[in-house]
Amino acid sequence: MTFRTTEPSRTLQLNELAKDMAAAGETVYRFGFGQSPFMPPRRVQDALHEATGRVDYAPVQGIRELREKIAQFHTATEGIDTSPEQIIVGSGSKILLLNTLMAFEPAHVVLPAPSWVSYKPQAQMAGHELHWIPTTFEQRWRITPAQLDAHMATLDGRSKILVLNYPGNPDGLTYTAPELEALAPVLEKHGVWVLSDEIYGMVHHDGAHVSLRKYYPQRTLVTSGLSKWCAAGGWRMGVQLLPVDIPVAFRDALLAIASSSYSCAPTPVQVAAIPGYIWDEVSQTYIGRQQHILRVLGQQVYRILADGGVAVHPPQGGFYFLTDFSPLRESLAARGIFTDDVLCANLLAETGVILLPGAAFGMQPENLTARLSYVDFSGAQIMNAMADAGTPPGDEDVVALIDRYCAHMLEGLHKLVEWLQ
Ligand code: PLP
Repeated sequence: MTFRTTEPSRTLQLNELAKDMAAAGETVYRFGFGQSPFMPPRRVQDALHEATGRVDYAPVQGIRELREKIAQFHTATEGIDTSPEQIIVGSGSKILLLNTLMAFEPAHVVLPAPSWVSYKPQAQMAGHELHWIPTTFEQRWRITPAQLDAHMATLDGRSKILVLNYPGNPDGLTYTAPELEALAPVLEKHGVWVLSDEIYGMVHHDGAHVSLRKYYPQRTLVTSGLSKWCAAGGWRMGVQLLPVDIPVAFRDALLAIASSSYSCAPTPVQVAAIPGYIWDEVSQTYIGRQQHILRVLGQQVYRILADGGVAVHPPQGGFYFLTDFSPLRESLAARGIFTDDVLCANLLAETGVILLPGAAFGMQPENLTARLSYVDFSGAQIMNAMADAGTPPGDEDVVALIDRYCAHMLEGLHKLVEWLQ
């Protein structure tokens, strides 16, 4: 008997380990897991309560009214020209990504290193050949048009798929509009299909997310959903925006695979998402507050890490850093640490700080990188305090709220930095 070998998600594994350690009474600092620290907007939670009677299966593609709202939302927030017909609502963007990969005959899947943990096993499950394009700290972990062109030129005539994620997990950085614009002609030249994972788009810290779909609408499939900006990862609702002129056979394949895998996204969640996708003052305040907290907190974490000698870039979106410990290579080597997994294991054993080795994201273990997510706090408490204050807070007010509500996380960061000295 033989079975497909796929790796379990390391992030989920680490979350389990953290739970076990905490249950055993140990102090842990959970920088390993990337779940939103916030809560969905009140009106979305209320709508879910009211929708418990919706036990019916929804249409495979998603409830029409919701798809209309999603199209309007993306047009209003990002200037994307889309329509309900070009939208698929699925049970999380993860399965939408996998199903899209499944829709291709064996193809080339190209991933920048670093990339989110699940793309590699997904590409393998779908039977594709995997390729990595390495990036460096100096290039801000971005792929360049020249790198992309050189790599694509080496591939044979099978379909070419690039998975691009921005703002990024594990790096917290994004592509600028000119950077995306410069990639577009190279993508067109090689006929590349792009899975543009924009699940952190709405939590760009300055509210300035730009989609590749603007510059390469013909073959870009955007994924997003409720998990990050709406803080509802466990509700399992993802969204896919299809290319404007997607071939009918491709669209049919996506819907056929959806109907044979998850049937539909949970109906009550879809109903609850309808008010979530209304871009009015309620949504703008809700998302604006998250962005403000993450921006101020991200800058604070950045300063602590940079002052501690870790190579990091100021974050632009989401809630991650790809920490690069290579400037401390010599002192780490003196302690017998040469790889990211030993670094993370020793750090956890000696301080309770959980980081994820960069190797989980396609980095070389000797690069000494690790992912740090800064979500180990109750975002709901900070959001409530902001609401109670009435007036929009300034940065200094947010710093005061962070000092109050993120004390445990800040303590963990200082433990990490002390451990490095
Ligand atoms: N893409 C990235 C980069 C993520 O970090 C995550 C979740 O952690 C997902 C996709 C999956 O999101 P969903 O909950 O919509 O399946």
